[in-house]
Amino acid sequence: MKNQRRELWDRMTELSSSVTELKGIGKETAAHLESLGIDTIADLLWTFPHRHEDFRLKDLAQTPHNERVTVECKVEREPTILFLGRNKSRLQVTVLAGRHLVKVVFFNQGYLKQKLVPGSIITVTGKWDRGRQVINGTSVTFGPKTDQVDFEPVYSLKGLIPQKRFRKYMRQVLDDFGAELPDAIPHYLQESYKLVPIREGLEGIHFPLDADHAKQARRRFAYEELLNFQLRIQALRKIRKESEHGTVIQFDVHRLREFIASLPYELTNAQKRVVNEICKDLKEPHRMNRLLQGDVGSGKTVVAAIGLYAAVTAGFQGALMAPTEILAEQHLENLKVWFEPFGVRVALLSGSTKAKERRSILEDLANGNLDIVIGTHALIQPDVVFQKLGFVITDEQHRFGVEQRRILRDKGENPDVLFMTATPIPRTLAITAFGEMDVSMIDEMPAGRKQIETHWMKKEQFGSVMSKLELELAAGRQAYAICPLIEESDKLDVQNAVEIYEQLATYFKDRFQVGLMHGRLSADEKDAVMRAFSEGSIQVLVSTTVVEVGVNVPNATFMIVYDAERFGLAQLHQLRGRVGRGEHQSYCILLADPKSDEGKERMQSMTETNDGFRLAEKDLELRGPGDFFGRKQSGLPDFKVADLVHDYRILETARKDATEMLDTEAFWHDDIYQNLRKMLEESGVLQGERFD
Ligand code: ADP
Ligand code: MG
Repeated sequence: MKNQRRELWDRMTELSSSVTELKGIGKETAAHLESLGIDTIADLLWTFPHRHEDFRLKDLAQTPHNERVTVECKVEREPTILFLGRNKSRLQVTVLAGRHLVKVVFFNQGYLKQKLVPGSIITVTGKWDRGRQVINGTSVTFGPKTDQVDFEPVYSLKGLIPQKRFRKYMRQVLDDFGAELPDAIPHYLQESYKLVPIREGLEGIHFPLDADHAKQARRRFAYEELLNFQLRIQALRKIRKESEHGTVIQFDVHRLREFIASLPYELTNAQKRVVNEICKDLKEPHRMNRLLQGDVGSGKTVVAAIGLYAAVTAGFQGALMAPTEILAEQHLENLKVWFEPFGVRVALLSGSTKAKERRSILEDLANGNLDIVIGTHALIQPDVVFQKLGFVITDEQHRFGVEQRRILRDKGENPDVLFMTATPIPRTLAITAFGEMDVSMIDEMPAGRKQIETHWMKKEQFGSVMSKLELELAAGRQAYAICPLIEESDKLDVQNAVEIYEQLATYFKDRFQVGLMHGRLSADEKDAVMRAFSEGSIQVLVSTTVVEVGVNVPNATFMIVYDAERFGLAQLHQLRGRVGRGEHQSYCILLADPKSDEGKERMQSMTETNDGFRLAEKDLELRGPGDFFGRKQSGLPDFKVADLVHDYRILETARKDATEMLDTEAFWHDDIYQNLRKMLEESGVLQGERFD
């Protein structure tokens, strides 16, 4: 394998010469190519078409309206031509295609008149107008379909370069370099999966002869992309693990055991396992880069507390960053109770910490009088300095930007880092998006939890929903009313929430207090509303999805989700997790009249299970990976051909193969690995995290 990869490396250099080496590419074309991101010969070869034009012969009877068709036909009559002014003409000819007598129309191609001789056979491509029985012709060849290809690639060239010319360059590159192309897939893997070799693959992508040719090419490159991706992230993880850039946190096992024994409940098996994983990382010389996944209510906070306490017993400081003040406060309340008997000094730092108190906290952090700080973004201010920060935890990690997480981390000397998230991520996406992190999962709920009863109801049943809500409120419980976020319009979104708020406020007038929460409120306003709800001075909270993040109001037992069909499963599940946090039975009502089968399936799934991971898998299946994370923070790499849903099996295979390759001594003695390692050392990635 060593030789193969060595050669690959050398040939890569050849391919990295400029496109201007090619015949017919001058300054102007080179500039156009550059603006498309194509500088080198390799760039050109790896510019894949975004679709293929289909030139296979079709039966008109089977072709839907407005679809492109290619048909072989016989010219039945002399063409007629109509001149429409300067250089404009419309030529029409009647042909017999199979058993259909139809017309073909060409614009501004008057010269065809002589060539379309009655009785002759032609092959026409064009858009099929089913109603008028006309093909709007775009191209024609004379004679039966022979030399013409079945599929022609169409590239995204932003109109800068004609498709035809681009294909000519491509042909040239494949002819000149094709025989020499390095193959990134080791031979034995090509054999065992019957993958076409690189040359044939590129031919199949750029010049497919038929559907199967294109399909085989696609399959090969899907595998190649996923294999390379897996090699990269797994190598990164392996190198990080071997490096000694982290902090050794030699905690006191006995003190830690005592602490765990003092907790008000026994840890679940999943919590125990995860605590072990975290503690093992703390002790190791490499830097911890771990994601802790656990459904809402699975008990991540106590796991975080145990990790923080471990760091403290080793003489380090710890930090826990949460996305909102109220969450940070809730963490403080919990941790204080648990830590107090053990003399751990803990403080809260947030935007509303008073100046004087803030000064004293900063002082204590800097001189080591404080062990643990919990806080919001306030933690990443430049004047927050630690004496010896060893362990950093970020709660609801997706709520923070890359930069914010990095700043916090940089406040220590390569501290261990743990990210927590309540968003269950399907396995496929997890190994792709977080492949170079270690992942811990709390996949078990504390015993004795009551299942949330979920009902899907139609809008006309609203009356009975309100009666049930009243009963709950009368019994002293609280409720959420969730209105969907209207993506296209911030304004409509707020309006919608305001309307529902007014409706409910009128309905419950003088009996119960209704509060309103939406994205247009300032952080302080949001906090004030949330606080009032949490303290019980508001009984019904009307809110958009901003309420999603881990707020704990155990007395809230009722949730209505308006227009529930507008939400994805993952999000509905997150929302639902706001109730069912206390001793009382909780209910979640989905008000929805979904039109699509998919929408109905989503509502049905919600009523059937409370398992976040199962819902996440279902969501991925129904909506695809792009929608899963939302647009902003997908964290997913952009693949050219691989598709995480349909190529799931290929991904699994590539993952396994990458692991095996990395386990081979030869691979690691390889120059490529040495280069990779040097690059990573120099770029500081080993000290960093994947989000950089
Ligand atoms: P999340 O993972 O959503 O952050 P929390 O850490 O807030 O969940 O825990 C949810 C609730 O479950 C809290 O009230 C917590 O005290 C409780 N809890 C956590 N672990 C256990 C356990 N092992 N047994 C019983 N209750 C637990
Ligand atoms: Mg939490």
